[in-house]
Amino acid sequence: MAYDPQVVEATKVSDNPKNGLFEVVVVLKDRTHGRIFFERNLESGEIKASRISRLLKEPCPICRKDFLCNCLDRYLDNISGQALQKIES
Ligand SMILES: [Zn+2]
Repeated sequence: MAYDPQVVEATKVSDNPKNGLFEVVVVLKDRTHGRIFFERNLESGEIKASRISRLLKEPCPICRKDFLCNCLDRYLDNISGQALQKIES
């Protein structure tokens, strides 16, 4: 079954207006926690998610490892899109 991440909480934890970098911590419905690194283009205002790292509070929902893995990378667009909607609303 395809993994379908559902963001239930998104909190901006840092924001650097000088370089446009900011970070958002997300909590997914399955209790996965992650930190997403964003870059805001200072001229166009366009926001791009650059990477996500899973916080090691719960085993990975995909591979079930409780140490570092890169499974969430494939869902970066999906999760970061949901996170942006949450922090902007
Ligand atoms: Zn994994």
